[in-house]
Amino acid sequence: MKLAVFLPELLRHLFKKPATVDYPFKKLAVPVNFRGTPYLNPERCIVCRACERDCPAEAIEISSVNEAEKRFKMIIHNDRCVHCAQCVDSCPTTPKAMLMDSLFELADDDRHKLKKDWVYVRAVLKPKAAAPATPPPAAEPKA
Ligand code: SF4
Ligand code: SF4
Repeated sequence: MKLAVFLPELLRHLFKKPATVDYPFKKLAVPVNFRGTPYLNPERCIVCRACERDCPAEAIEISSVNEAEKRFKMIIHNDRCVHCAQCVDSCPTTPKAMLMDSLFELADDDRHKLKKDWVYVRAVLKPKAAAPATPPPAAEPKA
């Protein structure tokens, strides 16, 4: 390349802002509605299992459902999660029991640590709807 062509190009780039960011030394702000990491708000969960059923990566596991003790355990296997947010879409509660936060730096050299971090054991099973009360039989008219 001739110097006459190269120099203006060089000078132009010397005073331009870099096109890349200095990650991980500078943190990036994630966009609104960014699909980061799924998390549960146990107080809202009705343990319907829709998130577990619809997760394409089989990353959600609900176990130890105990209605008598009103207890359940949910594991979100973040080592399998593909961050698609299907679990949030499938969650029927309003507001949603399953949500996505903005975290994306989950890498670890031990995948089991990711799983362990997302265990929930809470006493929040909603009581089943009570059967409608049967009205008392009408009193027999006295003779
Ligand atoms: S974000 Fe997608 S892959 Fe991850 S737990 Fe939810 S449904 Fe499964
Ligand atoms: S998080 Fe939502 S979809 Fe999953 S079990 Fe709870 S209520 Fe159902």
